[in-house]
Amino acid sequence: MQPEIMLRLDQDIKYLQGVGPQRADILGKELNIKTVGDLLEYFPYKYVDRTHFYRICEITGNMPYVQIVGEILSFETDGTGRKTRLIAHFSDGTGVVDLVWFQGAKYISQTYDCHRRYVVFGKPTIFKGRFQIAHPEIEKAPDDAGQIRYDAHQQSLFSSEDMDVDDMLLNAHLLASNTSAQQGNAPSVLSSPSLRPAYNTSDVMKKRGMNSSVVAKLTAKLLQMLDQPLPETLPPYIVERYHFPSRDEAMRGIHYPQSAEQLRRVQSRLKFEELFYVQMNILRYKRNRTSNSNGIRFEHVGEAFNSFFYHYLPFPLTGAQKRVIKEIRKDMGSGKQMNRLLQGDVGSGKTLVALMCALIAKDNACQTCIMAPTEILAEQHLDTLRGMLGDMPVRVELLTGSVKGKKRQAVLEGLLDGSVDILVGTHAVIEDNVLFQHLGLAIIDEQHRFGVEQRAKMWKKNVVPPHVLVMTATPIPRTLAMTLYGDLDVSVIDELPPGRKPIVTQHCFDAHRKSLNMAIRKQIDLGRQVYVVYPLIKESEKLDLKNLEDGYEQIREFFPDCKVSKVHGQMKSAEKDAEMQRFANGETQILVATTVIEVGVNVPNASVMVIENAERFGLSQLHQLRGRVGRGAEQSFCILVTNYKISQETRKRIQIMVDSTDGFEIAEQDLKLRGPGDLEGTAQSGMAFDLKVANLARDGMVLQAARDLAQEVLDNDPEEQNPANAILWRRLQELRKSNVYWGAIS
Ligand code: ADP
Ligand code: MG
Repeated sequence: MQPEIMLRLDQDIKYLQGVGPQRADILGKELNIKTVGDLLEYFPYKYVDRTHFYRICEITGNMPYVQIVGEILSFETDGTGRKTRLIAHFSDGTGVVDLVWFQGAKYISQTYDCHRRYVVFGKPTIFKGRFQIAHPEIEKAPDDAGQIRYDAHQQSLFSSEDMDVDDMLLNAHLLASNTSAQQGNAPSVLSSPSLRPAYNTSDVMKKRGMNSSVVAKLTAKLLQMLDQPLPETLPPYIVERYHFPSRDEAMRGIHYPQSAEQLRRVQSRLKFEELFYVQMNILRYKRNRTSNSNGIRFEHVGEAFNSFFYHYLPFPLTGAQKRVIKEIRKDMGSGKQMNRLLQGDVGSGKTLVALMCALIAKDNACQTCIMAPTEILAEQHLDTLRGMLGDMPVRVELLTGSVKGKKRQAVLEGLLDGSVDILVGTHAVIEDNVLFQHLGLAIIDEQHRFGVEQRAKMWKKNVVPPHVLVMTATPIPRTLAMTLYGDLDVSVIDELPPGRKPIVTQHCFDAHRKSLNMAIRKQIDLGRQVYVVYPLIKESEKLDLKNLEDGYEQIREFFPDCKVSKVHGQMKSAEKDAEMQRFANGETQILVATTVIEVGVNVPNASVMVIENAERFGLSQLHQLRGRVGRGAEQSFCILVTNYKISQETRKRIQIMVDSTDGFEIAEQDLKLRGPGDLEGTAQSGMAFDLKVANLARDGMVLQAARDLAQEVLDNDPEEQNPANAILWRRLQELRKSNVYWGAIS
């Protein structure tokens, strides 16, 4: 007879013992935990060794956590009204710490008694010369507390607040191998496991008393109630091939690992599994798309392309440009829809590639649409394209939010009657009322500003979907590209046009501004132009503006004979453009700006990029900004200005910029330093990056293995009929239903 299943994974979380409607509400709102299964998949973010105890006399000021055992000597209340604190003087015979509560004084003093033994866990701080632990975790000491282990070297275990598994493994010899707890039995909170889970909780949750240890109690309860082994989610042949622990062991072990060794094993399975299913989804989608979606076949290269190539090309193409154009041409001639990502560092000449592809489209009676992230950039593209095309009979038009009335009407009509060959614009081009006669190629510049959705909207602008070329100057680390753009083919321009000198990058402290200004003066005297960029934080535009205004005044003072332009986000677009234009024409020597100039703007005579408060920029952003100079043949400079007080991490980041001009390397380093969640582009990309266990910055090898396996499975079982894979297709289906971000890909 089947034993009764006490808890089902799809059950509402409120029915889990210890939850109830109120907590269920909070869990749902704060952590999106709605079912028992959701809680099961809410993994700890770190683990804390709870087998070791400190003596109070060993406590120092900079420990992230301590666990002590002792008794409360006495209670004391301090302050009045809302500022009342409850203090418990706690001692283990080697010293005294104060346990402090700012809330819940009544509950605490009723629950805990003097002269009984408790285990206390928390972060020690120093307040008025005394050690205290605010809002500690406190529990009755187990009966065998007499055998508590004090370990002489344990401090190294707590070396870092966000110690992760790798650090832990280094310390593995220090970990107690307490494996007596029975597999599958939920451990009592204090006794068995050596590593206790710590869960992220929100501020709202903490205020309502739902801290990490409350969540831990819930997961412990949950695992205890699940008396049936959790069903396997990978086919047995895969589990065997990689010697993975079972799904059941993995899911229990990730919450309550019995040892550091087990934790490592279950984590590696879960990481692999997570990435494997993401890759299955992407690769399957890619396969289905390429086999289903026919594209417009661009049969030939004709008059427009050739005439441009032989008579108008302003300079010989670089080898990389030639190669990339060939790749794209082949794609567009294949009869299948192209979906290609073109990566090329700032200044590598992507615009020219875009233009030549558009000319191929024209030769095949098709229109091209080029979408840029900002109006300035769209307008600059328009000028560049018109400039390069000269008197060729190719009609290029602009469509942005500022193109209105009759002008707009004319553009829209030209698109419909087919007389407009190339449309350049912003988001405005994907609006529903923008209709083309025969759109054959959609080029999206600086993809990281656009979401997958916008890409998809482009497809719908023609009966047969147009070819799509996504261009980005933010080099994307390989691991990220495999996940973010795993469904795209990739071309890379890995060569800069000849004659460019590498930009010299220097770190300059505020205090040395005088010599910085003198260096700028020298460049201006040589006839060059200078950018000075201020950071922009959306939350406090006023402050930003003040920074910029102050900087502007200082520059005016120091360079009274120079003309200075000023551009920021709060100016009207026409004003902004006029100022930019003055700088681009060489009427002004210095341009003081916020990051509005970040992408695309091209002023070859500018040779100095000064970035103020450089610590407030991401590496990719710094790299983008730096790419604004070094576009002519002159030696260019990028100066990163900070004050003396910067963090170790900032120092590292600035050093990376000083050492490298390679966008790919910088992107890799950025990913390592900041993690994928913060990386520019991921948030807006339409795919929330909520990988639960895997980390794209660190798990590149696992990702590659997972992708290879996914490809293998798809190749070996194209009809999806092999019974050995049945589990897998079912699981994929399940995941697609529950994961928003996978839905976004297709
Ligand atoms: P990005 O890839 O950043 O968009 P651009 O297309 O703006 O780069 O090109 C940067 C600069 O390099 C432009 O001034 C462009 O005219 C120039 N350029 C592009 N291709 C070549 C080439 N093959 N030889 C010389 N200069 C080139
Ligand atoms: Mg560009």
